[in-house]
Formats: sequence, structure tokens, C-alpha cells
Amino acid sequence: MSVTQDSAGDTVMRSVSMLCAVVVCGAVIGGVFYLASQLIYIPLVFPVLTALLGMLALQSLSAMFKPRQRRFVLLCGLLMGLSIYASLQTGIYLHLRQLLVQRVMALAAGQNRTLTYSQADAYLEGVLIQQTGQSGFLGVLVLRARSGIGITLYSTQLGGMPIQTNLQGILAYGYWLAELGLILFVCSRPKAVSRAMPRAPKNLCPVCHSKLTRESLGSVPEVKAEQFLTLLNTHDFRAAGRFIVSHDLGEVRYPRLDTELEHCTKCGQGPSTLRVFWERDQKTPVDLRTQAAEYVIAPDDKTPLLKALVGAQSNIG
Ligand SMILES: [Zn+2]
Repeated sequence: MSVTQDSAGDTVMRSVSMLCAVVVCGAVIGGVFYLASQLIYIPLVFPVLTALLGMLALQSLSAMFKPRQRRFVLLCGLLMGLSIYASLQTGIYLHLRQLLVQRVMALAAGQNRTLTYSQADAYLEGVLIQQTGQSGFLGVLVLRARSGIGITLYSTQLGGMPIQTNLQGILAYGYWLAELGLILFVCSRPKAVSRAMPRAPKNLCPVCHSKLTRESLGSVPEVKAEQFLTLLNTHDFRAAGRFIVSHDLGEVRYPRLDTELEHCTKCGQGPSTLRVFWERDQKTPVDLRTQAAEYVIAPDDKTPLLKALVGAQSNIG
């Protein structure tokens, strides 16, 4: 019981750590996105590229934190997109705010008044509330929408304002929403989420989450192969086991069926997988050594199978 409780607490810890890592990664990518946008900005293309970068980062994070649920990875993808866009908009806001404060200081200097940076900043805050009814980030956002934003290539390095101002008011808000929507769309596509899922959980025991062990059980001579496969297909694993000759008893001649059991050796309560391969001799091209079949064996059937193996008495006792 304590094992499952520990692993549940572990899962929560890993999930919280991953969410935090996603937000931090998104913020860093958004910051880089902002710096790049200072030089050149290509509408629609830039947000998509950034979102793709975010999903690449999510793949690395998934490999690190190994989330099990697809829904959780989807949530992480959306959070990554939100974090990227919030970071970009924060960069733009801080930059514009700095420019506006400098403008206030320059205006004051023109009237022979000296304002410190924080005095000018406080004055600007007052103007924002007076003009837009909002302070800080939202105030600047309303101001930007009112003055219009450019959707063609622009560089804020040239005078600090977009060269073209085509979208004003509701159109500006619509454009921002479309950009955010595009990023969230790229981050939540089923294919992107599948790619970001870690591959490891397939090899973990569903009961105790230990790593599964793969081991060879032995081989079945070609003459017995058909009978052996028939027994496996009827799920008579005890009878089938009697056909498997342990490698300890010497080589079985090619062609033969090789068997491999993937199972949990820790708790023994999860289902096991028995894989059966045709093995020809070393000279046979690899593509002819094909997999014949795969069987899921219930925990109750595993012990009879292992006890029935030829030579099992000497191995298991
Ligand atoms: Zn187990």
C-alpha cells in the first residue's frame, strides 16, 4: 500500500515540477522571440516557428519528467504556448514603457523641469489611468490598440514605434487573439502532443511501475512450431511451455522459434508479454527473422508456463 502512495505522491511532484519547467521554458523562448522581433518580425510565420520551438522543448521536458497522461501533455503544450505569448507581450510592454518614460522625461526637460526616472514613471502611470482607465500592462495595451499596430515587417528599433499602423482598436485586439490562437493551435495538435509523449511508459509494469525485464525462455524446434503456436492461440500456456527447450540444454537447430518474455520481476502482478520469433541461421538476411506472434499472459498463467519449460526443473526447482 505504501508503494502505491509513494508513487502517487511522486507523480504529483513530477507533474508540478514539469508544469513549472514548462512555464520557465515558455518564458525563455518568448524572451528570445521578443529579442528577435526587435530586428525583424514576420506576422503569422514567427508565432508558428516559436510554437514549434516550444513543442521541441516540451519533448525534452517529457523525456525528463515522463508524464503518463496524454491529457496532461496537452495541458503542458497549451501552458507552453500561453507562457511564450505572455513573455513576448511582456517584453514589448516593458520596452514601450521605458520609451514612454523617457519621452515624459524629455518633455519635462523641455519645460526646464528635471524628473527622475521613477518620478516620470509615476507620472506616466497617472496618464495611463486617466487616458485608458487601466494601469500598467493593460493601460499600455489599450494605448497600443488605440494608436494601431503594424502587421507588415516592422522594427521597433527605428524610433521605437511600428513603421506601419494598419490595425486599430478592435482589429488590433483581434490580431493579438489570432496570434495567440495560432500558437495554442500549434501546441495542441494531436500529432504534436503524440510527439511530446515520452515512450518509456510502455516498458513499465502497470501495477508497481518498475522497469519490465526481458528475457529469453528458450527455443522451439521447427517440427514442433505449428503445434506450439496452436496451443498459444488457444491460451494453453502450460501445455505450450513443454515445447520450449531452455538454452541451458544446448542449441536447438535452425530454423527455430525463439521466445522472449517481457514481465515484471518485482511484483509479479502485472500482465506479461510473450513474443515468439522465427530465427533462421546467421546467414539468413535480417528481414527474414520476422516476428511470428505476441501474446499477453495473465499473472495466473505465468507461473505454470515457466514451470512447464523443458529443463525448468533444473532452473526453477
Ligand atoms: Zn510490477
